[in-house]
Amino acid sequence: MREKIIESCKKWGADLVGFAPIDRFCADSAVRKLMPEAKTVIGLGFRVLRGTYRGIEEGSTYYQYTTMGVENMEETVMPMVQVRLSMYLEEEGYLALPQRRHQQIMAESDSTNPEVAYDSVYRGCTQETQMNFSEAAVLCGLGEIGMNGAILTDEFGPFVRCCFVITDAELEPTPVKEKHLCDRCGKCIKACPGGAISENGELDPWQCAVYYNGANGTKNPFMPPDAFADFENRMDIIGGRARVDKDTAPEILQNIYFYPPAQHAYQCSICGRACDMSCYVHLEEKGALTKAFKLPFRRRSEWKFSEKDFE
Ligand code: SF4
Ligand code: SF4
Repeated sequence: MREKIIESCKKWGADLVGFAPIDRFCADSAVRKLMPEAKTVIGLGFRVLRGTYRGIEEGSTYYQYTTMGVENMEETVMPMVQVRLSMYLEEEGYLALPQRRHQQIMAESDSTNPEVAYDSVYRGCTQETQMNFSEAAVLCGLGEIGMNGAILTDEFGPFVRCCFVITDAELEPTPVKEKHLCDRCGKCIKACPGGAISENGELDPWQCAVYYNGANGTKNPFMPPDAFADFENRMDIIGGRARVDKDTAPEILQNIYFYPPAQHAYQCSICGRACDMSCYVHLEEKGALTKAFKLPFRRRSEWKFSEKDFE
């Protein structure tokens, strides 16, 4: 049954399949609350197309990463495999509970999800139990957590998205990977156009939301020269130096949509996850990734507009 699951999920579109027995999750884990009789968590990893990041790397296309690398992965490709796997498990007489990211629902009352419009997020939903996706990815043997909190896989580095199916079927575990990819080089931190990751790797979600959506004019080809005209600190915003919080970030976000959003509240990523791209380049240069390409990801120096264009 385990081999059939791996073979089928790969045929349906998953790239990575891993199995975590329930005893890898602590006694108060959300997984146990979600399904008290659970025996296994099945982790599914999906590559995010390198070509969609390349569009942002070169400044040639932005929408494709958001729609094909985020929206369609989360809303179509990944749920399709989860549902088919879950139907197979239930056909075999086991319970199956798919777990996909709650993109617009969060337990925190003062945080946000940079990938979706800040005003589409339902905050403080503590009654809705949510499993820890990063922890589950590691426990399923899919990869390790990098310094900035991203899941890093041997095959695709940080260019991957994960979802899960909890089941009462007992399946042979996948070994948990020893940490070997992240060398704490700090390149993910330096690459962020808005300084959203602290020196110790902690992500500020509001800072990230503002710069994910393109507040840094030196990396945003869609920003008009008079952007943020009513903001006293407009040059700090445009230069990536402004510090924001839950009160000031929404004001900037209301004035930031120079490019149309995708569906399901997904906002177009203008930073293109520069943190992940930088990490990918680093891992590729080190020869740490098992999935090789004919040409390197980064082929020329990084481009940047001048702040003078906005003065
Ligand atoms: S860029 Fe360096 S520090 Fe950041 S996650 Fe990747 S390997 Fe780790
Ligand atoms: S590079 Fe983009 S996704 Fe990464 S931390 Fe900065 S704003 Fe967020």
